[in-house]
Amino acid sequence: MTSNKTVLILPGDGIGPEVCNEAKKVLGHVNSLHNLGISMQELLVGGSAYEKFGKPLPEETLTAAIESDAILLGAVGGPNWDNLEYELRPERALLGLRSELDLFANLRPAILSKHLSDSSSLKKDKVQDLDLLIIRELTGGIYFGEPRGVTDSGNSAFNTMIYSKKEIERIGRVAFEAAQKRNKTLCSVDKANVLEVSVLWREVITNLSKEYPDVELSHMLVDNAAMQLVRNPKQFDVMVTGNLFGDILSDIAAMLTGSIGMLPSASLNSDNKGMYEPVHGSAPDISGKGLANPLAAISSVAMMLKYSFDLNEASKSIEKSIQEVLSEGYRTHDLEGAQNKKLTTSEMGNKIIENLK
Ligand code: NAD
Repeated sequence: MTSNKTVLILPGDGIGPEVCNEAKKVLGHVNSLHNLGISMQELLVGGSAYEKFGKPLPEETLTAAIESDAILLGAVGGPNWDNLEYELRPERALLGLRSELDLFANLRPAILSKHLSDSSSLKKDKVQDLDLLIIRELTGGIYFGEPRGVTDSGNSAFNTMIYSKKEIERIGRVAFEAAQKRNKTLCSVDKANVLEVSVLWREVITNLSKEYPDVELSHMLVDNAAMQLVRNPKQFDVMVTGNLFGDILSDIAAMLTGSIGMLPSASLNSDNKGMYEPVHGSAPDISGKGLANPLAAISSVAMMLKYSFDLNEASKSIEKSIQEVLSEGYRTHDLEGAQNKKLTTSEMGNKIIENLK
């Protein structure tokens, strides 16, 4: 099967290039194994782009991002750039890519491999076989709402939480469609007992559910959802929520799985074009030491094949290989395990490739 797809790789800073290198090796291998016809291009983003071009998102990178079919990003940021003015900081590149490409749907799976159930902060029986997908609206809500600012000579400040019906409907569709491909249950999270914007959110999602009669919809207030995620996370399958609530809930869900080095994410636009990235940052404390876990970046490649390219078999082959390697006891340094099975970043990448079929 040949698809003629282009993937832009943006390694970024810190451990970004290390984990991206392994993800690139895996993508290259799957590409030739399954004859996918994917071509790859690599460019600078974040602090490394600032060093060369004086800005974190150079035109060349943005243009290539717009023209490519999918983007794999490592991580950006680090102490060298912490004192730059806001517009020049590496993290601005992420916001720039999200808004320029209209990547409004953030998909964050929280899956706990049965081989790693001891790494969770919750008791084993609460999290064993956890497989949850949080869908967060990413380009609207209070993070972008206008007006915003500081008044009264700095004595007060304000933001605006605003969603249009159109914005709620498009994230709702992503969520219902994701639920259809999974266990056909969807929990929509809001704060409809206090916020008008949440009343509208609930109304739009409820109306939309008529188009997806096979999906069982429920609603939950965000404070309860935070509690339920820690009390009994396995009650959820797909959750959908706005930008602010999703930011917080997806980090809670991430911690249920124990290691930030395992978690991938996808940010999609309405054509399913996506930017795929590990949830973790550039980890300057371990950068350059071969200690970074590349599995979040490698799982991000699996998500790319599934969501942007509809290449489910190739995607599953990566996920399967990850599980096999973990079941054999191999671990990177962030995960508990036998010392004689500890692997460096690139050794882990090689093991995943060895097991790919
Ligand atoms: P971080 O995720 O980089 O690191 C938090 C902790 O987790 C560190 O102890 C780190 O060593 C560990 N860790 C992270 N990824 C790991 C991996 N793959 N394998 C093993 N251990 C891993 O978060 P931070 O320290 O708060 O931020 C560091 C920098 O990254 C900052 O400049 C921040 O702005 C940036 N950041 C970028 C992104 C992004 O690019 N999407 C996300 C978060 C933070």
